[in-house]
Amino acid sequence: MPKSAVPIREVRLRPAFTGRGDETVEAEVLVGASGSRGRAAAPAGASAGKHEAVHLPPGGSAAAIAKFDASRLVGVDASDPRAVTEALRSIDPTPNYSLVGGATAYAVSVAALEAAAAELGRPMHELIGLYGEGGPAIPLPLGNVLGGGRHAGGGAPDLQEFLVFPENPRTPIDAIRANLRVHALVRRGIEKRDPTFPAGRGDEGAWAPRMGSLEALELVSEAAAAASDELGVRIGLGIDAAASALWSPSEGVYVYRREGRRLDPQAQASFLEELADRYGLRYLEDPLHEDDFDGFAEMTRWARARGVLLVADDLVVTNASRLERAAAVGAANGAILKVNQAGSLGEALSFAAACRARGYAIVASHRSGDTWDPHLAHVAVGTGALMMKSGVVGGERIAKLMELLRIHESNPGIRMSALGRRGAPGRHALLGRKIILEGRPREVRRDDRGIGGQAAAAGGPGVDQGAGRHRHKDRHDRENQVHGAVHS
Ligand code: PEP
Ligand code: CA
Repeated sequence: MPKSAVPIREVRLRPAFTGRGDETVEAEVLVGASGSRGRAAAPAGASAGKHEAVHLPPGGSAAAIAKFDASRLVGVDASDPRAVTEALRSIDPTPNYSLVGGATAYAVSVAALEAAAAELGRPMHELIGLYGEGGPAIPLPLGNVLGGGRHAGGGAPDLQEFLVFPENPRTPIDAIRANLRVHALVRRGIEKRDPTFPAGRGDEGAWAPRMGSLEALELVSEAAAAASDELGVRIGLGIDAAASALWSPSEGVYVYRREGRRLDPQAQASFLEELADRYGLRYLEDPLHEDDFDGFAEMTRWARARGVLLVADDLVVTNASRLERAAAVGAANGAILKVNQAGSLGEALSFAAACRARGYAIVASHRSGDTWDPHLAHVAVGTGALMMKSGVVGGERIAKLMELLRIHESNPGIRMSALGRRGAPGRHALLGRKIILEGRPREVRRDDRGIGGQAAAAGGPGVDQGAGRHRHKDRHDRENQVHGAVHS
């Protein structure tokens, strides 16, 4: 379809809040002769990468709005995200939007495209149009069902997110139901272990129980297996380690404060690889910190051999130059796209184009502090994302999932994305069968505590000692050295 220019008439900004209560910015953009309107409100991160756009300048949304010269947008083509970015850059030329904040750039640029879509009578994802070869597709919803890290209080796991996604759903609604079912079963599993669990949840609606990462993974694996059996949908497991939040640059180790684990970079990689092997994880995000391109590259070789999606978030921060740097060394095979990390939608789309050119799977993602804004669904479909990471429950998460359903409803022929099978089935797919774990054959049972046994359940120090097979012997040795230093 030929492109039509849709001139911006007016931009209005107001202070707004995320569901977590972070201050942010909402924009309203009016376009064209009829004054079609777009509205968007920016999300905010908690485990934000140090290389991403500044959320708001000192002085918060009031300062951002005061510094914003909306007249620079008047007449700009709202249907062209790059033109909108140029106008935003003429207001704030700093590399990280430190004058008006990434929140302002997000809100204005997303609202502009929504207004253009309304004026042209076309869905927003079509104006983005970076589809894959088969045309538009509905991404697999990826959501955290249990979590900790910076998204939950003390006592919850050190690893930030335990994620699930349906690998081969028939329809988007089946996909959403699958994740919801796992979320419900995870609560039951926690309550079975701890009848006094007060049903606390973290920022994104994932359960936040008092337990260590190993027990958490075991529990999520059981819930996913049960939901798989019940619904007949293969459910994949994943982890977002958000490793920059664990990394202590001064000590050169990853510190799991609650679980008493201290791992040097080799041991950290080894630990997560072993979890992935053992539980059949298909998705591993930010296993290493935000500047470790070489470590990511090494893990990517391991991931490729196993059909694991190794996803970079804080490493690439939705920044095309950082993605090129990752591609140059072969770091990661998937990348998180968060529009507000880049600031404007136009910059995020340049990143998406770089991902597609370099063969990175795109995972379009929400933030831990998010708003009612449903546009992530259009960004995900429009960029040809394999997955949309948007949580499972909570109003701001459901808003995005509902928009996926609306996109599907208005285009029933649209395909569902799927993740191909890999050689080794996930551990939960092996329940009831004899397999070899920890060097001896035994049956996998639902109540199997897996790595670390009772120690893992307690979440105490040293839970990953005696964990069995390590891929890299040198890593294993170093891990034990680190433990030895801490626990002797
Ligand atoms: C994440 O780390 O992927 C995430 C969504 O958290 P935050 O928004 O806090 O960065
Ligand atoms: Ca992340």
